[in-house]
Amino acid sequence: MNAKDLSLRLQKAAEFVPQDARLADIGSDHAYLPVALMLQEKISYGIAGEVVVGPYESAKRQVAKNGLEKSIDVRLADGLEAVELSDQVSAITICGMGGVLIRDILQRGKDKNRLSGKERLILQPNVGERQLRQWLVNEHYTITHEAIIEENNKVYEVIVADKLSKAPEYSAKELFFGPVLLNDKNAVFVAKWQHKLEKSEKILASLHQSDQDVAEKIQEVAQEIEWIKEVLADAGK
Ligand code: SAM
Repeated sequence: MNAKDLSLRLQKAAEFVPQDARLADIGSDHAYLPVALMLQEKISYGIAGEVVVGPYESAKRQVAKNGLEKSIDVRLADGLEAVELSDQVSAITICGMGGVLIRDILQRGKDKNRLSGKERLILQPNVGERQLRQWLVNEHYTITHEAIIEENNKVYEVIVADKLSKAPEYSAKELFFGPVLLNDKNAVFVAKWQHKLEKSEKILASLHQSDQDVAEKIQEVAQEIEWIKEVLADAGK
């Protein structure tokens, strides 16, 4: 396999891995990402971390098939417990999971002292981007790059975070859309938010019909609709 065999989603995440990185890919069923990057000579060392035995064995087979056992360690572990500080990992990829799950993996990793703060985080949440960005900001990461792509009729975002000397400040609106994406609204971004606008307007209409106490939810969805309209109007300029 090589990098071109990766899904577009993983290719996009791979682009943000620094040259010669020591990479830990967490949730690495098949180890596709570290194997492709090692074959490309983009990383100098890899860890493929998996918590489930079946995918862990697939990752081991993929690494062996490519003769990379000496340069990629496949480890059966929960989240960042696959990583020791002595591994001197310089980049961590966590792709293809919900943003809340990725956030929880990072939080547990931090609690268990598995993050040095020097490693670049390259994250590809399938949903829950806002909650993930909120965690990054709370932990004083700067969102240095973002990308949005479409593959097989699904939209995926990649969020790259680095700890820089100065902690950033982001508005709630930036965390909702992505501070980098907000400054570079491509066609996929616009289509995503047009679709979301339609959904949110339907949700708001049904909330107005509700006989429960949903005043807070109405306010939240109405705020989101206002932001989306503003951003789409701005993208049309
Ligand atoms: N990263 C690959 C990708 O993007 O194509 C695989 C995505 S797959 C949907 C999610 C993988 O993450 C599964 O193999 C699952 O077992 C693994 N996973 C989920 N929670 C995990 C955790 N806490 N630690 C390690 N692996 C985990």
